[in-house]
Amino acid sequence: MDFARVELNAEDRGFLAEVRAFLAQHVTDEVRRRDRETGDNFDEGVHLAIGAAGYLEKEWKSAADGGFTRVRRRIWELEKRRVHTPWVTWGTTAMVARAVAAFGKPELVEEVLPKVFTGEVRMCLGYTEPEGGSDVATCKTRAVRDGDQWVINGSKMFTTGAHNCQYVFLITNTDPTARKHKSLTMFLVPLDLPGIEIQGIRTVDGDRTNIVYYSDVRVDDKYLLGEVNGGWTVLRGPLDAEHGAVAAAPDGLQDVAIMQHQTGFMSAAVDAVAAKAARPGPDGARPIDDGSVAYRLGRSAARLEAALSTPSIFGRVAQAQTMRDIGPDLMDIAGPASVLPIESEGAADGGTSEYLYRFAPLAGIYGGTLEVFRNMIAQHVLGLGKPSYAPPATKAS
Ligand SMILES: Cc1cc2nc3c(=O)[nH]c(=O)nc-3n(C[C@H](O)[C@H](O)[C@H](O)COP(=O)(O)OP(=O)(O)OC[C@H]3O[C@@H](n4cnc5c(N)ncnc54)[C@H](O)[C@@H]3O)c2cc1C
Repeated sequence: MDFARVELNAEDRGFLAEVRAFLAQHVTDEVRRRDRETGDNFDEGVHLAIGAAGYLEKEWKSAADGGFTRVRRRIWELEKRRVHTPWVTWGTTAMVARAVAAFGKPELVEEVLPKVFTGEVRMCLGYTEPEGGSDVATCKTRAVRDGDQWVINGSKMFTTGAHNCQYVFLITNTDPTARKHKSLTMFLVPLDLPGIEIQGIRTVDGDRTNIVYYSDVRVDDKYLLGEVNGGWTVLRGPLDAEHGAVAAAPDGLQDVAIMQHQTGFMSAAVDAVAAKAARPGPDGARPIDDGSVAYRLGRSAARLEAALSTPSIFGRVAQAQTMRDIGPDLMDIAGPASVLPIESEGAADGGTSEYLYRFAPLAGIYGGTLEVFRNMIAQHVLGLGKPSYAPPATKAS
């Protein structure tokens, strides 16, 4: 890893100024307030403005293909994050667009990609089902061929962003008699088709997600991605990207692990509680002068730094686990008023630790739970073999 500082040349400094001015104009206090209220993590006006400025296309494409250079990509990502640009729906859209480009029929690619770049088309992930999400291959949503169409029936849980998207990247089962990895077929399903019903769900941290029902939804064959029963091949790339199983760049111009956007909430909470602990209370004493406060705050700060520096798939686990572990300590240090929600009047630390406390469980669930990630590390990184959940063998007497 290269820890050297990056010296920006005059053009890149100009780009930084341009991006800051652009984001200040579009990602306003009102956008952030509205986003907290809806829990959408998406703002259509901002998204369309980013598309119109050409930034979506430049972010999606490689430098060789006309996209951002490595330095500009890093500037763009960090600046977007710094101002809390609503971002979730672009993340899913960009991932699905890669699968469409690789596995879609030419007319589908033509229908979708240009509008992905303008921001008019957004796409979400239809993997998880009400009966389980960790093993996406145990899919019960059925797709049955009928002439040159497919008929889809089933339901998907936690389809985040569906109400702001035009298509869903849907896992279906096209052969219930086959082994599970040979039974899957992927579709890009337009969300305005008859038979699709989207119902909102709010999570404990205020995020909005959805349950989506599919009842006799008729989809043209052009929306099929890849081969029939070859869905696992189509899914591999997006799943690897979501799991952070992509190689780290040696130039240091990217996050060391996925989810560092989310970790910003943890940094904000540590900073806010540290500031509060250093301020004298009504009796003139500073909380930090109490040894137990200093110890727990110091431990939280050290764990934050360790989590932020932990690379790849290990970082995914370290970050989400640290959020869960230090959230209660931070609230405790901040005192009883820390239970007031973020930005409410009188909240001890601006509500940052309370928000971290509510957000932490989710950060260890979506995109794969912490337990599943730990199994992946054991199995694929440490080579410990597949876990066995069978009861221990008993000795024959
Ligand atoms: C806010 C939020 C947004 C989400 N957005 C999306 C989305 O956009 N699209 C989408 O398709 N899904 C989405 N999900 C779903 C998410 O990917 C799943 O919740 C996750 O994969 C876990 O699946 P599950 O909830 O069905 O739990 P289950 O798979 O039913 O697991 C239940 C429990 O068993 C444990 N467990 C399961 N299998 C194993 C194993 N092999 N080893 C050890 N422990 C195991 C789990 O850790 C968990 O504690 C979202 C979830 C949340 C909370």
